[in-house]
Amino acid sequence: MSAVSVSADIDVLVVGAGPAGSSAAWHLAREGANVTVLDRARFPREKPCAEYLSPEASRILSAMGALDECEAAGAAHLAGMVIRAPNGAHIRGEFAAQHGFRAFRDRGLALRRNVLDSILLERARAAGAEVREGRQVISVLRDSRHALCGVRVREFGGGEHEIRARLVIGADGLRSVIARRIGVARHAIGPRRLAFIGHYRGVEGMTDFGEMHVARDGYAGFADVGHGLTNVAVVVPRASVKGNVAGDPAGFLERWIAAHPHIAPRMAHAARATPVRVTGPFAVHASRAWGRGAALVGDAADFFDPFTGEGIYAALRGGELLAPYALESLAAARARDADAALRAYDRARRRAFRGKWAIERLVALAVGAPALLNRVASTLEASPAMADLFVGVAGDFVPAREVLRPGYLARLVFGNVSRSRNAPIPLAP
Ligand SMILES: Cc1cc2nc3c(=O)[nH]c(=O)nc-3n(C[C@H](O)[C@H](O)[C@H](O)COP(=O)(O)OP(=O)(O)OC[C@H]3O[C@@H](n4cnc5c(N)ncnc54)[C@H](O)[C@@H]3O)c2cc1C
Repeated sequence: MSAVSVSADIDVLVVGAGPAGSSAAWHLAREGANVTVLDRARFPREKPCAEYLSPEASRILSAMGALDECEAAGAAHLAGMVIRAPNGAHIRGEFAAQHGFRAFRDRGLALRRNVLDSILLERARAAGAEVREGRQVISVLRDSRHALCGVRVREFGGGEHEIRARLVIGADGLRSVIARRIGVARHAIGPRRLAFIGHYRGVEGMTDFGEMHVARDGYAGFADVGHGLTNVAVVVPRASVKGNVAGDPAGFLERWIAAHPHIAPRMAHAARATPVRVTGPFAVHASRAWGRGAALVGDAADFFDPFTGEGIYAALRGGELLAPYALESLAAARARDADAALRAYDRARRRAFRGKWAIERLVALAVGAPALLNRVASTLEASPAMADLFVGVAGDFVPAREVLRPGYLARLVFGNVSRSRNAPIPLAP
């Protein structure tokens, strides 16, 4: 880390060109900011992910002019989610339901990340952002008041150089260099899990519902991602993975599926189409999403668990949310006003996501306690209307408070529900 006193080359330097970085870059560049995006990878690049996008993500894709391209690239459409509990009970929730909330689209999308992320990055480029790939940020530059004012970059196959910017956005994912360098405390939270993810052809019984199968030793997700491919993800407690699986992650995934009789037959004739990748642990939460001269967005700020599958939406929404505060910070005449704008972003972020954070933690509690999940699943199996509401929250278009009401939570755990999809949703206890 170097302390320098310099004038900036550019307004905004976005580190990381995943959905968070592309969204932030697009929203800022279209307002006329001079934006540069850096990524250590060259696109298209792979990213281990279950590749499901909630229905509300389509709103931001559409605003960015990316939705038609995602459709044209063959994205699969998901009508809802099915969750199987360890006792065999099924929670089946539809996005298009009778609860009165409508998403931007009635369907979720599922699309390979190497395709989606390239489309989003092209949109940022089209809005005027300069994109530099194959550049890894290795440290940061600071000015005389200790604010970030740029980064030091290593080019693959080349040397190192410095880039100065008036604002640095850390969109560099779970192991964010920017978050670490601005001194934000990032807590490893929740369950420490590993995920094994690959694509298979010929998985039997696939429908237009995303699937989660919860067992006592982890969970598996299946989603059609178009072009005849099924994304298969197995997520297990890290402590349960014995020895080094790095040499044979596909073997681990396939043995796990084979050991679970209700899904094993569906994979019996499936052929692996891509290498299986391992990732994790992934639960991390930054104490705040800003520092002097810098803001965090996407996984660099927080990520919990793939179960509710909202990371891509949160990354896109985070970029959208940050843009006006970043512009205000850039326009500020005094350093303390620039800081105040970024602090206001942090508050707005908490307001926007705190409901989602609460749901994620409750879901993790249930997934880690089979008896509780069995009970909740039996309730939701018996009450399609309650299941639709829950899946709408996971789909980002029903406010989290709808399922955090005491009446809903009490009925979840204690039962006493209506079996009709059109039944009124229980509210007050
Ligand atoms: C197992 C698993 C399954 C998931 N499934 C889903 C799902 O189905 N649906 C969903 O919505 N979400 C899912 N998620 C979450 C989702 O993948 C993330 O929330 C999302 O990718 C966050 O986007 P991002 O732009 O913040 O980070 P990323 O997509 O990780 O992008 C960060 C970028 O920063 C770059 N970078 C990192 N360090 C540097 C550096 N030092 N210099 C330059 N560049 C750097 C990386 O190359 C990368 O391109 C899943 C996550 C996991 C772990």
